[in-house]
Amino acid sequence: MSSDSATTSDLFQCTNCGECCKGYGGTYVTDRDIKAISDYTNTDQKEFVEKYCRMSGKKPVLVQGDNGYCIFWDKICTIHPVKPKMCKKWPFIESILIDISNWDIMAGSCPGMRNDFPDMEVEKCVTEELEKTGR
Ligand code: SF4
Ligand code: SF4
Repeated sequence: MSSDSATTSDLFQCTNCGECCKGYGGTYVTDRDIKAISDYTNTDQKEFVEKYCRMSGKKPVLVQGDNGYCIFWDKICTIHPVKPKMCKKWPFIESILIDISNWDIMAGSCPGMRNDFPDMEVEKCVTEELEKTGR
């Protein structure tokens, strides 16, 4: 199916399958994310970083639990209201605009993404969404 007026919800509806929360994918957390999640979980920020983050290069990423999922996954995202910026933005992320083929690659592992819309529609929706969420 194709459409010349696709919306973000046409292109993506999360099924909460948790696939994107599995494996060492490097969920980066910004300083603002750390503060928000620490507050939400009633954890001191320093303690939060020590307990729930690992450094990837110079950036902190969330650690995985023994089950291979993000430490905050428990059948759902347990920190959904304050989940990291990159989790909130998914799948409307900058790399789509750099190479549109990334949309199809990501859709291969995210059942919530549709990959039967024209590239121009995907680009339009990603651009609109990034204007709202910030880059
Ligand atoms: S893989 Fe896609 S559909 Fe599944 S939880 Fe993640 S964003 Fe939602
Ligand atoms: S913070 Fe939530 S949405 Fe992000 S990877 Fe962890 S469980 Fe998934």
